[in-house]
Amino acid sequence: MLRRALFLDRDGTIIHDRGYARDPETVELLPGAGTALRHLADAGWTFIVISNQSGVGRGIITPEEMDAVQNRFLALLAEHGVEIAASYLCVHAPEEACDCRKPSPGCLLRAADEHGLDIGVSWMVGDREGDILCGKSAGCSTIWICNDEHPVDPALPDHSAADWNDILRLLGES
Ligand SMILES: [Mg+2]
Ligand SMILES: [Zn+2]
Repeated sequence: MLRRALFLDRDGTIIHDRGYARDPETVELLPGAGTALRHLADAGWTFIVISNQSGVGRGIITPEEMDAVQNRFLALLAEHGVEIAASYLCVHAPEEACDCRKPSPGCLLRAADEHGLDIGVSWMVGDREGDILCGKSAGCSTIWICNDEHPVDPALPDHSAADWNDILRLLGES
């Protein structure tokens, strides 16, 4: 049976966005994220992280630094009893024109195929326009986490959320 997934941006969605993060000590969950994801896991949601990490392709951070940050991220979620089924990290610079960098839906479609996920009942959550475009072009419902740094045309996402409590409510899981 195909499962419903929550496709998740990482930086600015689950953890604070530290730019081209290289220091695992700076990884910090956003308020309510761990608790909300635990609640959603109990309700049967599968979590897939889809993250652009072009700092690697741009030569700003090393693959090892990216891995250290990602491992810390997974460890913080594990402290809340939350497991990410899979993470798809695009390491390419924009000019490489890969098919995995958001807003391309490449990673999302691959994840759905590899993990037996039903895109039509799945959602994409993110803080930037690229997240919303990725989810929409794949056929997901979309939630934009409102923020002033990365404004999005309000007509673009299906829903907007102020925080993780809002996300739970929109998913019908509050
Ligand atoms: Mg983000
Ligand atoms: Zn890529």
